[in-house]
Amino acid sequence: MIGKRTRVTLTAAVAIIAVIAAAFQISKSRTFQFFGEIVPRVNTRQKVVALTFDDGPTPGITEGVLSILNEEGVKATFFVIGEDLERNPEEGRKIVAAGHELGNHTYSHERMVLKTPSFIESEIERTDQLIRQAGYQSAIHFRPPYGKKLILLPYFLSKTSRKTITWDVEPDSYPEIAADANRIIAHVMEKSSPGSIILLHVMYKSRGESLKAVKGIITGLKGEGYSFKTVSEMLTITD
Ligand SMILES: [Zn+2]
Repeated sequence: MIGKRTRVTLTAAVAIIAVIAAAFQISKSRTFQFFGEIVPRVNTRQKVVALTFDDGPTPGITEGVLSILNEEGVKATFFVIGEDLERNPEEGRKIVAAGHELGNHTYSHERMVLKTPSFIESEIERTDQLIRQAGYQSAIHFRPPYGKKLILLPYFLSKTSRKTITWDVEPDSYPEIAADANRIIAHVMEKSSPGSIILLHVMYKSRGESLKAVKGIITGLKGEGYSFKTVSEMLTITD
């Protein structure tokens, strides 16, 4: 027999663990958050998808991505890191000049959980300012680093009418797929559906396979009748 006190303590411990486990699951959910709108994909029957590139901009890589997009006549969305944009303002201006969309991916790319409200606010506002300095004038959408958010980040975003954009196709998240451009292409082709938001990390030298896959993803999906839209364009679709 265990005493009543022990039982209460055990019950409390189990409850705390359950709450922490639930919070962890929610913090990394692509489709749920406590406040404001989260968009992992768009509901539509139209064969449209959005290509989104996270991190950077990185000199020496941005131009390669832009030239593929230009050849294919595709507009994409770049969720840039404020710190990288500040270091490489020219790269940001090139992305904007080519007609692509810039999104906010925080200033320092830290996980935005267990952070103070003022830290969260400065991470986002600073990056928005840098995005404006790069010449981007349309609405700026937000994507949390590592997809992580819990309470204060979604609260700040919803209070300031910012949309949280996640994704529903993420080949880079599986090491065995990310290691091979052909597998990345095959994964994206298999998982994409009308309204999908595709996440790729091409702004690192270590992600050469992802960069190599961009052309094949575009031509493959075009071959299936898809066209490419920016995140903002996707958000205006109503059927
Ligand atoms: Zn990132």
